[in-house]
Amino acid sequence: MPVDYRQIPNIVLAAFLIKCDAPLLVKNRQNKLPLDYVSDQKLKEYFILLNRSTIIRQVMPNTSALTPCIICDECPADILFEPCKHKISCKDCCIKMKRCVLCQLNIDAKYTQGKGFI
Ligand SMILES: [Zn+2]
Ligand SMILES: [Zn+2]
Repeated sequence: MPVDYRQIPNIVLAAFLIKCDAPLLVKNRQNKLPLDYVSDQKLKEYFILLNRSTIIRQVMPNTSALTPCIICDECPADILFEPCKHKISCKDCCIKMKRCVLCQLNIDAKYTQGKGFI
């Protein structure tokens, strides 16, 4: 039976992209991130987890620049995690986080931009 590509759910597409080590933080020609095809928040976090070594490689070169939150991709990632010092999430998205989604270290404290911790 021939495969009808229109029937392939976005989630499979995203999984495929991630399996191919596609850069998750680079937009494609439709100006979409691979993770934009994943609507389920839990799955999104899971994919980020699976792909975190690739993300670390992409995030590391310009950690000082403010990148968008890797969970919602809307707000700037301006929360600094202690002790791992990763800055990957916005204020809203980090609230539920007990561990850093990048390196899996337990988060002892979350700092906002020079305004103490939350
Ligand atoms: Zn966010
Ligand atoms: Zn971390």
